[in-house]
Amino acid sequence: MTATGSEPITLRELATIDVSRLRGVSERKRTALAAFDVESVLDLLTTYPRRWVDRTREAQVADLVPGTEALVLVEVRSVHKRLARTRRAIVEAVVGDGTGRLRIVFFNQPWRERQLQPGLQVALFGKADVFRGGLQMTNPVVDLIGDRTGRIVPIYPQSEKAQITTWELAGWVESALARCAERGIADPVPVPVRRRLGLIDRDKALRGIHLPESIAEKDQARRRLAFDELLRVQLALVMRKRAMERDAVGIRHAVGGELVRRFHDRLPFPLTAAQRRAIAEIDGDLTAPHPMHRLLQGDVGAGKTVVAVTALLAAVEGGHQGALMAPTEVLAEQHFAGVRELLAGLEVPTRGESLFTDRPLRVELLTNRVGGAERRRVLGGLADGTVDLVIGTHALIQEGVDFRSLGVVVVDEQHRFGVEQRAALREKAGETVPDVLVMTATPIPRTAAMTVYGDLDVSVLDELPPGRTPIVTRWVGGPLLEGEAWAAVREEVATGRQAYVVCPLIEESEKLEVASAEETYARLSAGELEGLRLGLLHGRLTPADKDMTMELFRSGGLDVLVATTVIEVGVDVPNATVMVILDADRFGIAQLHQLRGRVGRGAHESQCWLVTAGSEATPRVEAVVASTDGFALAEVDLELRGEGTLMSTAQKGRSDLKLASLRRDRELVHLAREAAFEIVDADVNLDGHPLLLDELQLLLTDDETEFLTRS
Ligand code: ADP
Ligand code: MG
Repeated sequence: MTATGSEPITLRELATIDVSRLRGVSERKRTALAAFDVESVLDLLTTYPRRWVDRTREAQVADLVPGTEALVLVEVRSVHKRLARTRRAIVEAVVGDGTGRLRIVFFNQPWRERQLQPGLQVALFGKADVFRGGLQMTNPVVDLIGDRTGRIVPIYPQSEKAQITTWELAGWVESALARCAERGIADPVPVPVRRRLGLIDRDKALRGIHLPESIAEKDQARRRLAFDELLRVQLALVMRKRAMERDAVGIRHAVGGELVRRFHDRLPFPLTAAQRRAIAEIDGDLTAPHPMHRLLQGDVGAGKTVVAVTALLAAVEGGHQGALMAPTEVLAEQHFAGVRELLAGLEVPTRGESLFTDRPLRVELLTNRVGGAERRRVLGGLADGTVDLVIGTHALIQEGVDFRSLGVVVVDEQHRFGVEQRAALREKAGETVPDVLVMTATPIPRTAAMTVYGDLDVSVLDELPPGRTPIVTRWVGGPLLEGEAWAAVREEVATGRQAYVVCPLIEESEKLEVASAEETYARLSAGELEGLRLGLLHGRLTPADKDMTMELFRSGGLDVLVATTVIEVGVDVPNATVMVILDADRFGIAQLHQLRGRVGRGAHESQCWLVTAGSEATPRVEAVVASTDGFALAEVDLELRGEGTLMSTAQKGRSDLKLASLRRDRELVHLAREAAFEIVDADVNLDGHPLLLDELQLLLTDDETEFLTRS
């Protein structure tokens, strides 16, 4: 390792030093480390222990409780191998510490005899049972920890295949830290921030995570390093947010006008408190000089449409236009029907003239299915400003559609309204960039939202309108109990209601999924639901056939709609009161919740049946049975899946979170976000924090830091 320079060592420098420069890293070990993605000393130092064992307190043989899993730190006393009558190898060892002894047994792992040399220190993880009067563990997880004597033993992720043991890793980390000791490791986080948040410095933290003297020291180290990870992500997001606000000139809309008032007065219900709060937040953005970028989160049925339309009408009131974009044509058409109904008869006050010159509000639909003269008429109206609101797909902003003055855009999305779409919007806009409201019905926990959507402001509709009858959800496992679900369908149909049957999800192949839907349809028509009027809906039907089936169901011409997940979003038939989801354990929590949202939309009490082939409910199915609250379910989902999945589906990158957890470190996420605002708002380009800037470029993906280099 280089010893030049006397300034503290930066992460950038550590990233340029190959691990082979450390003593004991042979060519073979180097290759093995590379398989772990450890190539530089930085990679090594950020390969954190996966647990820490306090050898004097937490890991003693005397504390083992038969029947429960636990970890012990012990020394190998003796080992021997024998062959069972089946000729399988059995390796038995006796291990112990000052407090007691334990027998361990391995089946079919003959090499353990050579591995477990007497005198060796090992960490064992497994379930201890009482066997022949003594304690025994069978096939425990073994970590070799060498002859370390520290009180706290770090245990690193290791791979038997890669043939790197936790004590080898510990040794290399220790020698790397020793070589950094003279210069120390640089700390890029401003001192006032560190002080206020009670964070230890980075040098101390890196030592404390790898070589702690106490568990408390390790905890402090972890807190500091997790904060660093979260701060980098938040800095990138906050800088992007501020850059967007700075670069774009928005429209200062006037809010609280007559048109919006008329709209609210005509609603057959009062707004919920959550709706009023979201509208106020949006109004704040609309009147500000920079364009709005806000996310509106709300569970299915929370009433997002009214909030969105309110924002669109504010644009119209000021003489601008509004656009509502949906992810698919079918959804665009449904939104169009819904919004037109909501706004029927609404007149736009024309200011300055006589009271009698109010004009009708003009709302149009524009999808690829709108063609010919109709399309020309709508396009003309958008260009000359006579169309007030247009509803369509995302293609609205991507293709050659001209607006006279696009003021507010609402994006109804299932996925992320990405950077590219925003860029398209910016290009489309002339001098001013329209305000953007993104709606999502897939609730994600607030801390996760801060990270996944951290460059947006967030409003949450966390309250359903009153008077909804909750959907009763039941789980039935196994073919015998499935009959209960079909009986419920027959009962509801007998009283004039309708039902959905959702067919098994087959992610690998749409073709298989369609085949299975056809099979289910045939089976039910001839069996459990014989005599009822069944329809079939799946992704391989022509749009015309889909429409026909949907229309038939909507108008009551079908009792039961057998469908694939194509019904997941947007379908709205209040008379449908039962849903049966087959192979429910194949769906994710969010998807089950979305599907279930298709019932319970009318005044009648609704039910949802989750059917699984096996007779055990999975944790996901149990969660959906237990709660109808999308936000609570999102928390469970995050808990079950870990944030890895959330992050990777929401956007690539952000893989930087090695220590920090969006679930466990909620407080830190908030603190990091606050600190990021504080730093960026005092120093927009981080000119005064070159190390911090350098780390963003080093550790975040290109996509995440794209704006840093944008001119
Ligand atoms: P979301 O888009 O959030 O799923 P919608 O906007 O489609 O929900 O609203 C669901 C239903 O609730 C609609 O029928 C709507 O008219 C109704 N609704 C919206 N706001 C209220 C309210 N404040 N009180 C009663 N009903 C409401
Ligand atoms: Mg809706």
